[in-house]
Amino acid sequence: MKVIGLLEELSDVYGIADFSKNEEELIDMYGEDICKYPYAIAIGHKMLEDIIEKIPLTYNNDKLAQEYLDEYFNSHNRVSVIADKIIGCIECEGYNAIKLDVSGTNSNLNLKMPFSNKASAHLAGIGWLGKNNLLTTKEYGPRLTWATVLTDMPLSNYAGSPMDSLCDDCVICVNACPGKAIVDLPDAKQSYSPVKCGEFLSNRKKEGHPVACGMCLYICPYGNEKTRKIIENR
Ligand code: SF4
Ligand code: SF4
Repeated sequence: MKVIGLLEELSDVYGIADFSKNEEELIDMYGEDICKYPYAIAIGHKMLEDIIEKIPLTYNNDKLAQEYLDEYFNSHNRVSVIADKIIGCIECEGYNAIKLDVSGTNSNLNLKMPFSNKASAHLAGIGWLGKNNLLTTKEYGPRLTWATVLTDMPLSNYAGSPMDSLCDDCVICVNACPGKAIVDLPDAKQSYSPVKCGEFLSNRKKEGHPVACGMCLYICPYGNEKTRKIIENR
């Protein structure tokens, strides 16, 4: 199938969620419109490795902190371009497709709440929500930016199933978070405090630094060669 070939060529990770597998639950949570397009394509794009590797230095170097912040937004733009190409390919085949924006919405859909990229990638079975509340993949950890395309192109043969968390007893991000915003609980809704994370970032801003902190993204052993051995040895 042409679109699958293009996904393999353009994305670093991709997965497909078939909404019919979780229809009732999805409609309950997001409303009827979520199933207007029965498939979600989650597209993962790697952030630049050399910038991510410098994250520990950003706390004492505003230039590097700004560089990381810029890469955060630039990688969103790059993955959005990839999503547009996938939509073009689907439309050429005679099907419909739309892209969700970063906040998980689209003006064509009336959703009770945003459908996030994290949700699409999780349902597609390509990652799990880590204790740090980031979508984490086995190969690249959380070092990816995501986009979601919803479509009516029949893709059930390529659809995955939600995967369980592989965090287990790992507490590396819990111990490394400078804002003490992560605790060791299996459910990301309880382990990650957006309030404490936000407080840390706004304090950085008050001190005149760029509003950037990516320690939880950098340190996760699933994407970090230096800490990976800790999970390999457990
Ligand atoms: S962004 Fe920083 S403060 Fe927020 S959870 Fe991650 S490491 Fe902690
Ligand atoms: S650092 Fe460990 S606990 Fe945190 S998200 Fe990664 S695997 Fe999970």
